[in-house]
Amino acid sequence: MQINKIETDCLIIGAGPVGLFSVFELGLLDIKCDIVDILDKPGGQCAELYPDKPIYDIPGIPEISGEGLVDSLLKQIKPFNPAFHLSRIVTEIKKVDDTWEVKTDAGDVFYTKVIVIAAGGGSFQPKKPPIKEIENYEGSSVFYSIRDKHKFKDKDIVIAGGGDSALDWVIDLHDSAKSLTLVHRRKEFRAVPDSVNKVHELIEAKKINFELGQINVLSGDDGSLKSVSIKNKEEEKNINCEVLLPFFGLTMKLGPVADWGLNLNENLIEVDTKKFETNQKGIFAIGDINTYPGKLKLILCGFHEAALMAQEAHGYIYPDKKITFQYTTSSSSLKKKLGVAT
Ligand code: FAD
Repeated sequence: MQINKIETDCLIIGAGPVGLFSVFELGLLDIKCDIVDILDKPGGQCAELYPDKPIYDIPGIPEISGEGLVDSLLKQIKPFNPAFHLSRIVTEIKKVDDTWEVKTDAGDVFYTKVIVIAAGGGSFQPKKPPIKEIENYEGSSVFYSIRDKHKFKDKDIVIAGGGDSALDWVIDLHDSAKSLTLVHRRKEFRAVPDSVNKVHELIEAKKINFELGQINVLSGDDGSLKSVSIKNKEEEKNINCEVLLPFFGLTMKLGPVADWGLNLNENLIEVDTKKFETNQKGIFAIGDINTYPGKLKLILCGFHEAALMAQEAHGYIYPDKKITFQYTTSSSSLKKKLGVAT
């Protein structure tokens, strides 16, 4: 795996609403952020669990959908130009002298003075199908998310599932694959109507194959898949398969956060409510992942926590510079970034 070394002022773990708003609060204090998320898009629970549902308790916005809030936050933080590193999980945090070294499963190594954990309910992780020895092929022939679709060009691909992710990738990959088979245990799909219609058209035009049933055996050598066996009520058949992409949704687990030497209380990170710092100097925890007396898992509470965290984080990045509190209405540095007259 190629190692990618990145120096940054602040590494934010989690691109949910609270991680995104931190970019704004830190940006106001001239702190440059890199932000990592397991998901392939920003937005955390709002984007993954309820994009179309209305939210009614964001101050000053009577009603906004989960997706609408994420879009607005992305617009709001654009002037601060955060670097997004998506589809990767932060696995390790280590202190080296006075710098934190943070590793992801994609080979990134971040060097940073400040870490903001905005990991929500923990990591979204793929639901894995119960197929014997599937772990022998994971990462080489079996993938639960896609970082680089070009490596699947001219391959025999099997996509399993009937939801949005499965259908989106069928539509995206069918042109470049050698063959593409969609396997689902029902004839009906549970995805947005436009994707469902497109996939039906591809099946009718014989541009992809559809198999009703479930994958029960994988065959190959040394992690290289050659075929899969699909079983339904009537028959069991073998089809060529070099790449298997199971998309059965996501589940939330605490994940690696538990191993970072932080004080936990019922799987949540303990913080003090003055600065939202953890028991480790320079590591902050905000949003749904933290706990303190009176904590409410609400987006607006996470936003408040981000503002206080940023004031304290400033001291780690600019130890010799006194912080000057400014309203956004009069912040000269914000106006410069927005390109408006001061
Ligand atoms: P999240 O949104 O959970 O985002 C955390 C992100 O961190 C995720 O994207 C995850 O993939 C990532 N992550 C975790 N671990 C790692 C790791 N190790 N490496 C890389 N990335 C990692 N709140 C309201 O205020 N009002 C509402 O009306 C409301 N309605 C809701 C309705 C539903 C159905 C649900 C489920 C929740 C609702 N909430 C509501 C709660 C709200 O969504 C959460 O409070 C909010 O999403 C918390 O934001 P967050 O940024 O802390 O975490």
